[in-house]
Amino acid sequence: MAELMDQALLLRRIPYSETSLICHFLTPAHGRVTLMARGARGAKSPFRATLAPLYRLHIRWRPGRSGMGTLLDAGRAGMLVDEAYMLDGLQLLAIASQLFQEGDPHGFSELSDAMTLLASRHQDEGLCAAFWLLLDRAGLLGDLLHCWQCGEAVADAALMAWKGAQLICSDCGEGGAVSPGMRKGIAGVMRQGNVRLSARDLQHWRMMIGQVMREHGMKLPEGFRQLSPQPK
Ligand SMILES: [Zn+2]
Repeated sequence: MAELMDQALLLRRIPYSETSLICHFLTPAHGRVTLMARGARGAKSPFRATLAPLYRLHIRWRPGRSGMGTLLDAGRAGMLVDEAYMLDGLQLLAIASQLFQEGDPHGFSELSDAMTLLASRHQDEGLCAAFWLLLDRAGLLGDLLHCWQCGEAVADAALMAWKGAQLICSDCGEGGAVSPGMRKGIAGVMRQGNVRLSARDLQHWRMMIGQVMREHGMKLPEGFRQLSPQPK
């Protein structure tokens, strides 16, 4: 079979046999690709230096006739995020790995945009914003101007509620209050870098994100496991 080339982001590495790695990549043109990197854990393998997470890569591979293809070459083209964001970046990889499965053409630009968002916001807001972007682009969220249940437009100044991992209008029921200020704050953080949320709104946002992930059977990242409001 003809060799293929693409840009790639490394999502996961799974040790295979004594010396090899099974690697999951997101690519812009080929979606998620799973490839065997033969001998990648060997001391002299050129893959040893390149196949680390959080780098932009260029890869070349031979697709399998049936099943997994073989990685032929991998080169680095810069870091995805600064060292200060490494841990948060790894959390984004874990979430993207759950959201974008093999056969889905999406994932590469979504993850790239999430990393950019992470690195251009204050740290606490940045991780929430990056998760929010990934969940949104994977189709798991509605927007902040409409009820996610009935689809009606909601006025900027109206109180909304959070219930069952959905943002709903007052006609559709009750739940944890989502103030107009909080909706405006989230929209602001998603749009520009200098917006901060209050500690309370940030905590509430984390809880909303955790609930959406749990609703879709995803593994919750550290710091997003508290699923009910803190007792006052
Ligand atoms: Zn509604």
